[in-house]
Amino acid sequence: MKIYFSENKRYSNCGTMQLLRYLISKNNMEVVENANNCDIVFVSLFDITEFSNLRKTYLTFKGKKPVIVGGDVAKLDFVKNYADYICLGEAYHFIEELGKIKNIKEIENIKNVTTKSKEGIIDYDIDYYKNPLIKASKKVIYYYGGKGCPQKCKFCFYSHVNSYSQIPESLVLSALKKIPKSTKLYLTSAYFPFPDMQNCYLKKLGMIDLKIGQYLKRKYPSRSFRMGIEFFKESKRKEMGKPISDEKITEAVNKSLYWNHEITMYLLAGLEKQEDMYKFIECFPEYQKTYSPRITIHFQYIDFNEKTPLEGLNITQRNDFNTDSMQKEFNKKNRRVRVMQIKYKANSTYRTLLQRTKNKEETEFVYSLRNEKNNDVFINKVMKIYPELLGIKENIYV
Ligand code: SF4
Repeated sequence: MKIYFSENKRYSNCGTMQLLRYLISKNNMEVVENANNCDIVFVSLFDITEFSNLRKTYLTFKGKKPVIVGGDVAKLDFVKNYADYICLGEAYHFIEELGKIKNIKEIENIKNVTTKSKEGIIDYDIDYYKNPLIKASKKVIYYYGGKGCPQKCKFCFYSHVNSYSQIPESLVLSALKKIPKSTKLYLTSAYFPFPDMQNCYLKKLGMIDLKIGQYLKRKYPSRSFRMGIEFFKESKRKEMGKPISDEKITEAVNKSLYWNHEITMYLLAGLEKQEDMYKFIECFPEYQKTYSPRITIHFQYIDFNEKTPLEGLNITQRNDFNTDSMQKEFNKKNRRVRVMQIKYKANSTYRTLLQRTKNKEETEFVYSLRNEKNNDVFINKVMKIYPELLGIKENIYV
């Protein structure tokens, strides 16, 4: 069996794609670079924004080569209109079975395969003992660390469509012993469940000196810390299932200055008011001396993802947010902070509504609006033809 990956080249080196390639070759199949030579085309729909790649692939190969799609977003209904086969959940068993079949049509018999006429079951099985250490570059080694997240923040699609599982601790420890000193181990998981292993793990990330058991004080700022803060107010973070306290944010800001680490923070707009930003700014100490180490804040409007508690909420009920005015406030208080421009609200509306579509006409209509930058224009166009897509559930979280 010869397989062609129709993928965004940006992601072809990521841990998941490399693991798929490994499993395919283990099961005596081949990944080919030229689509003309393949028996089947694979597409990974790990994020809703990858839909345009799936759509393009399906239109290109329809009737010529079977298209099979996997990834978390493949669990949503509308995907059925853009694939011949859908692999639900993990691909281990699927690839093993694929390696055995003689006729392409037998794919339909695999237990976690869905087609237009058959519902498959979702396969959550991960055999961590069979996973390889994957050399991503000279210095980086990927290891499949787990799936899902026990935190289950209300807005998080990933945690709600996956059952939580984690790699056994002993496997991580033996992997850390096995890999060369010059390399770092990256566990591909959203959640790191081994606090006792922190020293060992952070050493591999190059952030801790094991001899003295301390974080490394950097001569030049490092970009190691990434924090999903999500909301301004502690009460809102708690309400949404991510109870990071104000004190913890202050502590992280202070420590990052002391150890010379940059921080990147991610926040979601739409559920809080502009003035709520002051509660967040209060967490930052006065600091006007230098701009370093940087604290960069990225915003995007919240998506009301399917299969989460926010599913079906009225998308028109989200507040606007102005990042320039937040930057001005930070300039008066802490010069380390740089607030990046927020992405278009219409962009998040598009992602949300695409997930809600059921039949092909709806999907194609929403897709046709993908480049619309004005959220009001977007909403008005949808309101005229498919008002129910905007959501009927009152947004109790604003
Ligand atoms: S947002 Fe992060 S912490 Fe929250 S459930 Fe998702 S992965 Fe877990």
